[in-house]
Amino acid sequence: MSSCLLGAIADDLTGATDLCNTLVREGMRTVQTTGIPPAGFSVPDTDAIVVALKSRTIPAAAAIDQSLAALAWLQSGGARRIFFKYCSTFDSTDAGNIGPVADALLDRLGGDLAIACPAFPETGRSVFQGHLFVGDMLLSDSPMRDHPLTPMRDPSLVRVLQRQTRHKVGMAAYADVEPGAAALAARLEALRKSGTRHVIVDAVSDAHLRSIGEACADLALVTGGSGVARGLPAAYRKRGLLAAHADAAALPRSQGLAAVLAGSCSAATLRQIASFAAGHPALQLKPTALAAGDAAVEEAIAWARARIAQGPVLVYASAAPDEVAAAQRSLGRERAAELVERALARVATALVDSGVGKLVVAGGETSGAVVNALDVKALRIGPQIDPGVPWTTSVGGRPLALALKSGNFGAEDFFAKALRQAP
Ligand code: ADP
Repeated sequence: MSSCLLGAIADDLTGATDLCNTLVREGMRTVQTTGIPPAGFSVPDTDAIVVALKSRTIPAAAAIDQSLAALAWLQSGGARRIFFKYCSTFDSTDAGNIGPVADALLDRLGGDLAIACPAFPETGRSVFQGHLFVGDMLLSDSPMRDHPLTPMRDPSLVRVLQRQTRHKVGMAAYADVEPGAAALAARLEALRKSGTRHVIVDAVSDAHLRSIGEACADLALVTGGSGVARGLPAAYRKRGLLAAHADAAALPRSQGLAAVLAGSCSAATLRQIASFAAGHPALQLKPTALAAGDAAVEEAIAWARARIAQGPVLVYASAAPDEVAAAQRSLGRERAAELVERALARVATALVDSGVGKLVVAGGETSGAVVNALDVKALRIGPQIDPGVPWTTSVGGRPLALALKSGNFGAEDFFAKALRQAP
């Protein structure tokens, strides 16, 4: 691996891409890997590497093991600053994994203080007096209250994180951040002296994120959402750690046909499907048909192959909530999801074998399944299509342009817009 400055560990795939997108926009050349690549895999010259794990909701001990392995790999590649990325809604339970992983990383790095800041005011996530807001709602009043895996019912991040660590959690509040980086740095130093190990940092504006970047650029470990990475690249450049690049988002030219695959059932994705299907061939896969055998997938592949030379096609399983609920009732939630993920992954590999070189995928889990099936070990991150979603190109093997979209991201015309802007 060539030497890079910043090594990041992300607790899920599309969250990793979101962080990469922020770093690239701030001028850092960035590569994302799917887990730790196999020995001998050659990572291209880059300023930042983001390892995407799938560790958000696994047992804490496993999340720690995976994160420490990622840390060791990043350090072997020269990473001198470490970032632990989690969701901007602080998705976690009292059993972890944010506190346990942050503690394990700090121990290994020999650090004595890390900040924790999921704020990204531009996307409606702000932290004030240690409390997290989603738009104008406290976290505990937002839909995150009823998340199936990580219900967030306490808006005080100081309390939430304190339940996940035996070390002292403190706060750098608005009054410490608003005056700028020097005041924040002084506050962090005072907290460090008083034995505080984790500091929830307020941020309600982009200027706050930039002050945080400047005040924290020398810390061994920063933890947070992708927003808090916004101020770091400029602070690294100021310290002479990072060279300026004319175009950190440059990607090699992609070749081949184009297709869109969707497995997300979010409201945003359903609107994007309706918009794209109005002007392009589109085919829906039904979980009950997939459960009956391989015929439905093979028919979908044949359908797509017959059309794709004339222009991009869309294959999707996404459905409205009542249709999803019906499929889950008859097949079980996990089996329905697994059938869909396997089917879309199979369609992806078949289409790439048929000459597709540009692929747009909607859905976090769906993207994970597709990337695994295509055996993509790493992605070079390119220009942003819509907030949080960049074009990427696979590294190693046959180059493939991929736009991986977490369900709720992107404007209504996202699919057509992404294909128009394909590298
Ligand atoms: P998002 O990013 O919106 O959360 P994901 O791809 O992560 O999207 O999750 C959507 C899940 O829903 C996937 O596991 C997918 O397999 C599943 N799914 C997609 N379509 C259906 C359907 N028609 N019925 C049941 N489950 C579905």
